[in-house]
Amino acid sequence: MKITLLGTGSPEAYARRASSGYLVEIGDDKILLDCGGGVFDRLLQSGRMPSDITHLFFTHLHTDHMMDYARLIHGAWDEGGAPLPVWGPAPIAGINERFFGIDGAFAHDLRARTELPQSQEVWVARGGTIPREWPQPQITEIEPGFNYQGDCWRLTTCRATHAQPLLECMAFRIEADGKSFVYSGDTGINDDVEALSKDADLLLHWCYRPDKAEATEAMRAMTPTPGEIAAMAARNDVKRLILTHFRKSMDDEATHQAAHASMKAAFDGPASIAKDLDEIIL
Ligand SMILES: [Zn+2]
Repeated sequence: MKITLLGTGSPEAYARRASSGYLVEIGDDKILLDCGGGVFDRLLQSGRMPSDITHLFFTHLHTDHMMDYARLIHGAWDEGGAPLPVWGPAPIAGINERFFGIDGAFAHDLRARTELPQSQEVWVARGGTIPREWPQPQITEIEPGFNYQGDCWRLTTCRATHAQPLLECMAFRIEADGKSFVYSGDTGINDDVEALSKDADLLLHWCYRPDKAEATEAMRAMTPTPGEIAAMAARNDVKRLILTHFRKSMDDEATHQAAHASMKAAFDGPASIAKDLDEIIL
């Protein structure tokens, strides 16, 4: 399994880090976990095309995890790609309908591209056929506990502690060839995420707060620090830990060094801070 970190940042506008998105390649499958702002461009920079994606799963629907969704779907459609299967919590079906439905935000564009004779001529010259269908991603709304069996891989989910009750949020575990990769989504440490992380070859965990940052009790429960995440990884026998979802304010040298020190104190295995376009092979 090969994992490419397409977006390792937060909602902030930040050239160094796109918002959340992670590509997992197993056999012929290219599985995208989240699709935040900037992930589309990172996908192209990594040498892949929108239509290369075979599966898209959303942990939750904060915009920094789905802002490039419409661009990905439209881009894959423009290439003539097959309808993309998409899994995510509600209201992903309604969001999709409001983008690509018959009365959706892009209806003017899709009507013009599929009905204008000149546009049809361009489409046929690019190898397409008429009539041209509108984008039709195959949406499945899911809840924590959902499992998916791929060709030679399996995805399991659990509830992440994040933006409930306003947004359902999940963490994901993917297993293939005896290897396991856990992506926390955005979450506080909870029993379900700990169980999901057990014995993982790689835990990619969000980190939104340095160890010494002041925070209210509610915020502390929601935003584990590098030291807390490393301790959780250690007690669950995780093999390798990478922190992601870094904010601009956490990206200076001193904060990185402090995070490395906190992780080293609590966790024996390799531990690092994600960078956009990093690749990991398990
Ligand atoms: Zn979030």
